[in-house]
Amino acid sequence: MPEKIYRVDVCIVGAGPAGMILGILLAQQGIKVLVLESHYNFEREYRGEVLMPRFIQMMRQIGLLSHLERYPHLKLKHFQFYYKDKVWASLDFTSICPQAPFALWMSQTIMLYALYEKALMYPNFQLLFGVTVRDVIKEGGEIIGVSGTRRGDNVEVRCRVTVGSDGRFSAVRKAAEFKMEYEDYDFDVVWFTVKRDEHFENTVRALFTPRRIYLVLPKYPDLVQCGIIVGRGEFLQMRKQEIAAMRAELLEAHPMLHDFARQLMDFNPFSVLQARVSYVAHWAKEGCLLIGDAAHTCSPAGAIGVAVATATAIIAADVLIKGFKRNDLSLTTLNKVQMLRGPEVQHIQAMQAWFTRAAFLKYPHLRTLALLSLFVLSRTGIMQNFLRRIAVMDQPLPIDPSISLGPHHPT
Ligand SMILES: Cc1cc2nc3c(=O)[nH]c(=O)nc-3n(C[C@H](O)[C@H](O)[C@H](O)COP(=O)(O)OP(=O)(O)OC[C@H]3O[C@@H](n4cnc5c(N)ncnc54)[C@H](O)[C@@H]3O)c2cc1C
Repeated sequence: MPEKIYRVDVCIVGAGPAGMILGILLAQQGIKVLVLESHYNFEREYRGEVLMPRFIQMMRQIGLLSHLERYPHLKLKHFQFYYKDKVWASLDFTSICPQAPFALWMSQTIMLYALYEKALMYPNFQLLFGVTVRDVIKEGGEIIGVSGTRRGDNVEVRCRVTVGSDGRFSAVRKAAEFKMEYEDYDFDVVWFTVKRDEHFENTVRALFTPRRIYLVLPKYPDLVQCGIIVGRGEFLQMRKQEIAAMRAELLEAHPMLHDFARQLMDFNPFSVLQARVSYVAHWAKEGCLLIGDAAHTCSPAGAIGVAVATATAIIAADVLIKGFKRNDLSLTTLNKVQMLRGPEVQHIQAMQAWFTRAAFLKYPHLRTLALLSLFVLSRTGIMQNFLRRIAVMDQPLPIDPSISLGPHHPT
């Protein structure tokens, strides 16, 4: 028997960006929401820290941008491609998106605390930290809630709609037996952080070397976050070698990494992101909906995972709010989320696949050619156009302006 049974309108599993934003939008419309989060806080590293203009546009549309801008962040205005230590191509966010001419660097910990602070303004919002959801509760073929544990105690939630926003390894997806349409995993990004040089500009950089591609991003307040793109599972092989091999590679890569490389004693400073791309065939079942990374995971190419996950959460909020008003939370209603979001998600995933597989990874000997192509494309405007399609939202999300938290702003 569970120690405690909660009864709410909507139970959201996972307090990532998608779950938090859905929770806020529902609670401010008077819908009783309970968010369950397995961790005890929002502390997390290297997750969703660069937020492209499309995220800024949608936060403005739902009236959350000015709230988020009160918290520590950096505005990144340029994107540069380097070959060794020379700039080969440079793009300005103003030319890509004049309405939101920057990418935002904000740690996910800070962003989630900012969202939580906003959420606490709404009495219908509740978040329970430390609850790990393990199963869904079914009745007559319909999902009517979830069960999990908290500090060894059993917890149960009964609700009208269960939302799985528990990320790329979703427990709700598994327990409710959702099927994947596809799941690919081509490469890893190995992250680490170095001290920032006083001349370092707030620029997003892709650094090409004959051996690899590195990503170099400013990190608040005075650090630089670096990512090494390696083949799938390659980092496991790298770890089997002496740390000296890694040190030598970083010393060769760029002078900015020299201090870090010289002080490197072991592999502890590195954190690996698996570049998984996935898409669930049907995002809804009776009483249950998947959103965010639980429904569709994007590749890290373009740093738009948070924006894509959040867009689905906002559309889900609109669909559910209308469903509650009409008292229609049927499967047909829940399916509207995928109808509205699925095509764009798949289009973005296809563009990312083109970028990562063809240009860089599957054919490493073509890397120099890819670099030359980037150089030419960035001078013809094709590159701007391509980046615009990844980083910028063409049109506002198709939602009722009344679900916004502030006055409606065009994007
Ligand atoms: C290392 C890394 C770097 C990234 N960098 C970027 C970037 O720079 N820019 C960008 O836009 N995107 C980036 N992404 C992608 C981005 O983080 C995700 O796309 C985004 O966080 C997805 O949001 P979400 O809310 O759907 O899921 P998540 O953020 O994954 O949140 C899921 C939540 O569910 C919780 N949870 C999981 N299982 C359970 C359970 N059983 N019970 C209860 N709670 C559970 C988790 O603890 C987590 O809080 C990165 C991802 C990773 C892993």
